[in-house]
Amino acid sequence: MSVVVFAETWEGRFKKATFEAVGYASALGREMGTETVAVVLGQCSDELEQLGRYGAAKVVHIAGADLNSFEASRYAAALSAQVERAGANVLIVSGSFNGKTLAPLVSVALEAALITQCVELPTSTQPVRVKRGAFSGKGYAYFESRAPKHVLSIVPNGIGLKEHPVSAVVETAEMAVAAPKTQQISVERASGTIALPEAEIVVSGGRGLKAPENWKMLEELAEVLGAGTACSKPVSDMHWRPHSEHVGQTGIAINPNLYIAVGISGAIQHLAGVSGSKTIVVINSDPEAPFFKAADYGIVGDAFEVVPKLTAAVKAFKSAH
Ligand SMILES: Cc1cc2nc3c(=O)[nH]c(=O)nc-3n(C[C@H](O)[C@H](O)[C@H](O)COP(=O)(O)OP(=O)(O)OC[C@H]3O[C@@H](n4cnc5c(N)ncnc54)[C@H](O)[C@@H]3O)c2cc1C
Repeated sequence: MSVVVFAETWEGRFKKATFEAVGYASALGREMGTETVAVVLGQCSDELEQLGRYGAAKVVHIAGADLNSFEASRYAAALSAQVERAGANVLIVSGSFNGKTLAPLVSVALEAALITQCVELPTSTQPVRVKRGAFSGKGYAYFESRAPKHVLSIVPNGIGLKEHPVSAVVETAEMAVAAPKTQQISVERASGTIALPEAEIVVSGGRGLKAPENWKMLEELAEVLGAGTACSKPVSDMHWRPHSEHVGQTGIAINPNLYIAVGISGAIQHLAGVSGSKTIVVINSDPEAPFFKAADYGIVGDAFEVVPKLTAAVKAFKSAH
């Protein structure tokens, strides 16, 4: 028996979400008194042993060109086979874009119960009882399952990195997988240098910024903070910003350490995607803006005055330290 974790790669590299999932799986494995097996699919240019830092006792790398780009049915087949081979009754997947597609397919293949959006380790493993996000992030629910097998997907950036260094044994194998049902034809990269789901800091703008050209000041703030940029729905609907930056109930849900909302009213649909942020700073000219109720820090003021001052202050702080 073991806990298996899908160690996802992006263009052959691990990201924070991978380490977070491995750390979660190994903490669960220790609670269950069993080892953690990390499964890596397709080409990987990162050192596989580093997964041991987060507690993976074994890393199984399934190489093969068929797995070099994500295709849901092939990945589900390969991952299910590895879960069965390991005799595992729990699979951990990060709730990334790919993980969200993969988790239900693998749970069907394994006839396992699926619990998504887990935000904590299970409080019990027999039966499995775990806290998960509910109502578009506006609340939490505890799910309990008595199924013999489980797939748990965790909220990226929601658990945090937990190191538990062990020496990982690496096993590499090839595996024949069935022909794909769909094929990746081309990739169009989203703008912005930092992918939103992994960004530690996010600077976000709303309709209060008045026009797309005014985003330059937000981009400058984002640059000095090393932040990703996001926006409210109307902003992307008006094509001021790309849809890949739209956060909220109908956009991306993010959980950064710091979310700076500029000229955003704080509608419930917007909050649904950002309320997992650890610290929220709101800059709004209207002291009655609903977003202030959800804010840890609020600045009542004109964004066009406040943001350049904030950028200058961060620059001054950075050059002094
Ligand atoms: C089914 C459904 C799903 C939705 N999904 C989403 C979603 O996923 N994400 C999302 O964002 N919205 C979503 N919405 C829309 C949501 O209800 C709000 O309409 C939207 O979030 C408002 O965007 P906003 O805050 O940018 O604009 P506004 O509501 O127009 O707010 C602009 C804010 O800017 C402030 N402001 C104006 N000038 C300045 C200035 N100079 N300096 C500082 N502040 C200033 C104003 O005081 C105001 O608070 C959804 C709506 C529905 C019905």
